[in-house]
Amino acid sequence: MADLRLPTNTIVRPDKDRFLNEENPFEAMMSRFDRAAELLDLEPGIYKVLRSAEKEITVSIPVMMDNGEVEVFTGIRVLHNTSRGPAKGGIRFDMNVSLDEVKALAAWMTWKCAVVNIPFGGAKGGVICDPLKMSVGELERVTRRYTAGIIATLGPDSDVPAPDVNTNERVMAWLMDTYSMHVGHTVNAVTTGKPVEMGGSLGRREATGRGVMLTTLQALDHLKMEVKGATVAVQGFGNVGSIGAQLLAEQGCKVIAISDRTGGWHNPKGIDVLDAMAHVRKHKTLEGYGKGEAISNEALLELEVDVLVPAALENVITTKNAKNVKAKIICEGANGPTTANADTILDEKGIFVIPDILANAGGVTVSYFEWVQNRGGYYWDEQTVNDRLKNIMVSSFRDVLKLSQQHKVNMRTAAYMVAISRVATVHRLRGIYA
Ligand code: GLU
Repeated sequence: MADLRLPTNTIVRPDKDRFLNEENPFEAMMSRFDRAAELLDLEPGIYKVLRSAEKEITVSIPVMMDNGEVEVFTGIRVLHNTSRGPAKGGIRFDMNVSLDEVKALAAWMTWKCAVVNIPFGGAKGGVICDPLKMSVGELERVTRRYTAGIIATLGPDSDVPAPDVNTNERVMAWLMDTYSMHVGHTVNAVTTGKPVEMGGSLGRREATGRGVMLTTLQALDHLKMEVKGATVAVQGFGNVGSIGAQLLAEQGCKVIAISDRTGGWHNPKGIDVLDAMAHVRKHKTLEGYGKGEAISNEALLELEVDVLVPAALENVITTKNAKNVKAKIICEGANGPTTANADTILDEKGIFVIPDILANAGGVTVSYFEWVQNRGGYYWDEQTVNDRLKNIMVSSFRDVLKLSQQHKVNMRTAAYMVAISRVATVHRLRGIYA
């Protein structure tokens, strides 16, 4: 077998000593990658391969708007690494989408799939648009034209999208239909997170929140903390935050604060999560919920709680507020809620962080189950899905914890080490095609 290992003194780390712009998601992700790569003594060849995306696609998306005018949107799809299997990762519709962000998120997916050891590589996509200002028809036309624009990369064996920020089951149904029309037959394994009626998996919608609950229970157990009555604050009340909160409450935790982009609510006696979810179903947001004291998103992060679940956006725990975080455990439901520089502060404070690539990997894990079910044409009941998800989340948590104890590093670095070594092993086995 070819040995790609070179003497370590030849390692080239171009960005290592540069000032870290903690707001840039690609740099933040790569600084974590660099640390883990260094500890693994990763050979320079593989280091360079893993630092670059395999494919970056940018497409113009002309769309006839409802007012009869043509608007041109920009769509991006990045495949970071496909050494372990088809590229996997969501598509987001958001004004903040940029190539840098999508590249970071695509690499994140490579690590996330590797940390839970599912046979996928990493990808991410996005369209720069404001879906809240668009009609259903406009959204459908954007989705279909974007799908047509990136169709060459898509396919159950090559690139399998899923929902992400501001996309959902309906968007995945349009994507699957567009792809199927192009290839001339129905291919439901081209995307995951579909409606159950057309090949979606039972349990997929709840999967990320379930993973948050499962990894939090593992952390509580590791720190010998009681589950019953453990206080929880959740930032973000979308799919991940609300379901994570509800499942933690079901386990006996006391959810004392929740928030969304309209602000939050704090009630030391505990919030009835199902009741708050019913409010959101009716009013779209938590605005006016009123069962507790109003609290800002910033203040929620600094509450004295056992568990803090940032399940909204990137970069909310930064060098500015990390010193004020009082939680004992942070379970990162969102992708990248903690900046790289804030990690050091959280470490110094002894806060146990369950990193995003582990904490929110429940979603992509059940995406994998969906893809398996689609390809086998045989569907599992919800209990089977949940049991298999639990096995994967618990064993992944334990793998990461073990490595963190062996190397005396935090959970984030350990998670990157597990992931990078799994991807690097496959590169060594496959060698470089020339
Ligand atoms: N968008 C989700 C994530 O960031 C799910 C990706 C997938 O299921 O492919 O993990």
